[in-house]
Amino acid sequence: MAELMKGKRGLVMGVANERSIAWGIAKALAAEGAELAFSYQGEAFGKRVEPLAASVGSDFLVDVDVTDDASLDACFGALKDRWGTIDFVVHAIAFSDKSELAGRFINTSRENFKTSLTISCYSFIDIARRASELMPDGGTLLTLTYQGSNRVTPYYNVMGVAKSALEAAVRYLANDLGPQKIRVNAISPGPMKTLAGAAIAGARATYRHSEANAPLRANATLEAVGGTAVWLASDYGACTTGEIVRVDGGYHVLGMPQPENI
Ligand code: NAD
Repeated sequence: MAELMKGKRGLVMGVANERSIAWGIAKALAAEGAELAFSYQGEAFGKRVEPLAASVGSDFLVDVDVTDDASLDACFGALKDRWGTIDFVVHAIAFSDKSELAGRFINTSRENFKTSLTISCYSFIDIARRASELMPDGGTLLTLTYQGSNRVTPYYNVMGVAKSALEAAVRYLANDLGPQKIRVNAISPGPMKTLAGAAIAGARATYRHSEANAPLRANATLEAVGGTAVWLASDYGACTTGEIVRVDGGYHVLGMPQPENI
């Protein structure tokens, strides 16, 4: 490895297990020399994350529920106490009531709309504000989105609206934080087999469809998403901000399925 992240420290939010996209990113950042802190949601996930963190040399773990201001205060307080400053934050967090990731979008409830948008979009704004205070020399904020933000993907429903809002937030945050040399970008992978991915009705069919039709005839891998995160968080990403970077085997360029699949 080239140690592209040597001397950089940051927080990875959203590891639930070894299939999590956040874990793919953490491994790639650590392999390039980054020093990592991890946030996890609740004790049960904490038990899973602890050995993963240890395997990349980290004992810095914080329990964070992004709907709870006190836990966010404690997390960024701990980062400040231990490191003083940080260089990056990876936000790989989303949630919607599973019952609304099925059926028709038109049935979205007000309660789940609020919950989904709060956890999947607002939390990134909240975290960006807190993180920017610890980035006096600039830094990188990364989030994860999906093409259901601008193309209808059956059953993605309210999460599509949340990702659309998140992508707009990336652009507004990039503009606010640009003068402080803080870059804000999103990675948009194609479908991946994770806990959150499995919550969407028809996930397996979406995965197979995308693999069979993408120009590369392949879905995103944890390694490919991790490598993209390294590029964006390292100095090689110095002039890229406000961007949505797709890691989807090229699926997004298609106007129709491949002839062999019709
Ligand atoms: P995952 O289930 O491994 O990760 C989701 C994480 O969100 C979990 O760690 C969970 O604890 C966390 N989370 C949910 N609510 C939270 C809260 N209130 N407070 C703190 N943490 C909370 O699944 P994943 O697929 O790795 O998801 C990571 C990101 O990638 C999400 O934003 C997801 O939308 C996005 N994404 C996933 C896919 C896919 O196909 N899996 C594709 C594109 C984008």
